[in-house]
Amino acid sequence: MSDCLFCKILEGKIPSTKVYEDDLVYGFKDIAPHSKEHYLFIHRNHTKDVNDLMDKSQQDLLDLFSAMKKFTENSDLSNNGFRIVTNMGPHGGQTVFHTHFHVLGGEQLRGFGR
Ligand code: AMP
Ligand code: ZN
Repeated sequence: MSDCLFCKILEGKIPSTKVYEDDLVYGFKDIAPHSKEHYLFIHRNHTKDVNDLMDKSQQDLLDLFSAMKKFTENSDLSNNGFRIVTNMGPHGGQTVFHTHFHVLGGEQLRGFGR
């Protein structure tokens, strides 16, 4: 989509720091990290959020989780643990409307009752 920030990143029109790439999925560093390691994983197909993705192309979800597995199992994240998050809509805090998963780690994470 021409007005989508993450589509522009996929097209190389906006710079990003790549950490993972395959034919279907792109992973890059979050510009404003919430933890020592904070990456974003996006599919090359544009959908606006996970529910839109589930309506349009459920295979994309498997592609994304497969990519995150390949990435994390080749790093210390798999030894120490990490968190995968996706935000939906205003109350969820979604700010970029191209489905993405946050991969957070590199230190002890807080929240969710801890
Ligand atoms: P969300 O708030 O869940 O929609 O997540 C959007 C994320 O994109 C935020 O964590 C931002 O810090 C991140 N972000 C915004 N612009 C860029 C960019 N140009 N490069 C990397 N990450 C970005
Ligand atoms: Zn997009």
